[in-house]
Amino acid sequence: MSIADKLVTTTVAQLTPYQSARRIFSGADSQGDWLNANESPFANGYLVKDEHFNRYPDCQPSEVISAYSQYTNLDPSKVLVSRGADEGIELLIRAFCQPGVDNVLICPPTYGMYAISANTFNVGVKVAPLLPNFELDVAAINAHKTGVKLVFICAPNNPTGTVPSKTDIESIIQHFGDTALVVIDEAYIEFSPDENHCDLLEQYDNVVILRTLSKAFALAGIRCGFTLASADVIETLLKVIAPYPIADPVAQIASKALSSTGIETCKRQVSVLQETQSSLIKSLRKLPELEVVGDQKANFVLVRVPYKQALMDHLVNLNILVRDQSKQVNLDNCLRLSIGSDAQNQRLMTAITQFSERVKELS
Ligand SMILES: *Cc1c(COP(=O)(O)O)cnc(C)c1O
Repeated sequence: MSIADKLVTTTVAQLTPYQSARRIFSGADSQGDWLNANESPFANGYLVKDEHFNRYPDCQPSEVISAYSQYTNLDPSKVLVSRGADEGIELLIRAFCQPGVDNVLICPPTYGMYAISANTFNVGVKVAPLLPNFELDVAAINAHKTGVKLVFICAPNNPTGTVPSKTDIESIIQHFGDTALVVIDEAYIEFSPDENHCDLLEQYDNVVILRTLSKAFALAGIRCGFTLASADVIETLLKVIAPYPIADPVAQIASKALSSTGIETCKRQVSVLQETQSSLIKSLRKLPELEVVGDQKANFVLVRVPYKQALMDHLVNLNILVRDQSKQVNLDNCLRLSIGSDAQNQRLMTAITQFSERVKELS
């Protein structure tokens, strides 16, 4: 038994590292078409100033907080910046869930990190799956109360691309009242800006919204996300955050991305991606054996295909990586295709069509 095996906590001993394609394929050909993590195909350039790299950065760089507060029209006291939205998820769990006692509630099929983060801290995970039409099962969710501290609702939902009904979300917020925070993950909100829940944030003090620069802002590489909540919730999160979570170059780049020109660029790129997405969907619908699943309120398309694994292998052989979602509840045989550049999209479509013809010949 290694020293690590001997000393590791019982909680951590049961964990396996997050299986991102970055980990699985690390060192593999990075020239491939990475359509697996909903990253942007646009690599926008930024220049950074280096004169303060000898100093620790501010915990909450004021230029970033004020830029995001302007972007959302919220008071700066309601904005927290962190190392990606993933850190926001973790901070919420650490600040509000007592290990071994409290639970989070999730609505699968959904984003994996809520459960993974909870597991890391020995916090329980209660599950209320989405209905077959991917709406929230309000009755199943509201059957919970005691012991649940955080309810995670992803909107637009990854990987179904659907947005749950606002009335449902509001009734969940009211049900949990002062017993749990309802965390609305808006990582993809720039793709459906009208669906944002900032008004609920102003109305209810148990609402939290998660945001990120990783998707529409094309900055997954800098690790920068935001938590929006009442000033009291933000103050509580600041008790558990690291002293210097946002590196100086990250703060500089984030501020530029959130300037008016940065926001214009983001909007322009979103509309390009949406055109690419429409043309992808049009082509996909021509293949009768393939079903487009859910909705397309974000930068990906979920499809159900017979021979899912064979298609996945076919794509990997062509250096195209998409995300297998088939292990999630109600998503058997489903793959999630991120919207890439036009060229990537064409390569993807050519590969899928080729595969579909091969399947026809075999059957
Ligand atoms: C990508 C994603 C995140 C992670 O955002 P980071 O800021 O990169 O940590 C959070 N939530 C959902 C639903 C996502 O898809």
